[in-house]
Amino acid sequence: MPHKILIIEDNTNNSTLLWDILTFHGYQVSLATDGQEGVTMARELMPDLILMDIQMPGMDGMTASGILKGDSATIGLKIIALTSFAMQGDQEKFLAAGFDGYLSKPINTRELPTLIIQWLAGKEPS
Ligand SMILES: [Mg+2]
Repeated sequence: MPHKILIIEDNTNNSTLLWDILTFHGYQVSLATDGQEGVTMARELMPDLILMDIQMPGMDGMTASGILKGDSATIGLKIIALTSFAMQGDQEKFLAAGFDGYLSKPINTRELPTLIIQWLAGKEPS
């Protein structure tokens, strides 16, 4: 069984790129396009990893992550913040907000597979 990864991202260029890379590497990938849909799908799928965009119309990634991390059923989900904010100190800000990691956009397609393996390390496919 492959690991399940949920992409929550409103930008089609980014989500298509992520989808292509992750499916190429054999992961079972699902996609949500806003925070509310992402929360619903996360509860249904219980993915091994979530890649969560921060800036989305409707419910943003910070809010969606807060909902999942505030619910005992989904508190254990591993959530990586996807953000284009290229400001120094962002990593600390997102880790402090409860995210398990940080991926800045534009996405480094060469580094991504290694980062995914690191984030999934020690996790049995669910
Ligand atoms: Mg966005």
